[in-house]
Amino acid sequence: MCVFCAASPGANPVYVQQANAMGRYLAETGRRVIYGGGRTGLMGALAEGALGAGGEVIGIMPKHLVDFEVAHTGLTELHVVASMHERKALLAELSDGFLAMPGGLGTMEELFEIWTWGQLGLHRKPYGLFEVNGFFAPLLTFLDHAVSEGFIRPEYRGLLVVDTVPSALIARMEAMSPPALPRWMEKSGT
Ligand code: AMP
Repeated sequence: MCVFCAASPGANPVYVQQANAMGRYLAETGRRVIYGGGRTGLMGALAEGALGAGGEVIGIMPKHLVDFEVAHTGLTELHVVASMHERKALLAELSDGFLAMPGGLGTMEELFEIWTWGQLGLHRKPYGLFEVNGFFAPLLTFLDHAVSEGFIRPEYRGLLVVDTVPSALIARMEAMSPPALPRWMEKSGT
């Protein structure tokens, strides 16, 4: 499972606690964690949670960030790549699913890229949000607004699974079956 989350701890300790809990849950259920490889903020807490529960954690980090000494040095594997683009491509390739936790620009960008690639039919892997402390509520409201204004198709909006409980989130993501071909790319829909 690929996890996108903040390199910062956030303003409320619940974010770090829940990142740790998600890491622990993934490890305890035998899932390998794949993430950006950082040691700070929610990223570090996620890795610690999984490693502490005996899980495998794969980090993928571009060289310029490793040189900046923000990499976690105790991971099962740390892949050092040349660029942010290479990092995202490898995160996507190695993972069977993607979940985002609270985060900033980096997390948002990663989530939306995966969602966009799914919409374009470039992958058929599930993605979801692990909601903590109501963090994503304004974003979800905005996404619904974009649907009602005709910019996001309801079927693609519906592919983003949102849950506050790790076990429920993962179970619902695993039950998702994204459309084989984006509807707007089918002949009849153009
Ligand atoms: P942000 O949400 O802006 O804190 O960015 C976190 C996301 O962007 C992570 O999922 C990482 O892939 C990437 N990222 C941003 N800053 C760092 C950092 N200092 N160390 C590792 N990854 C980072």
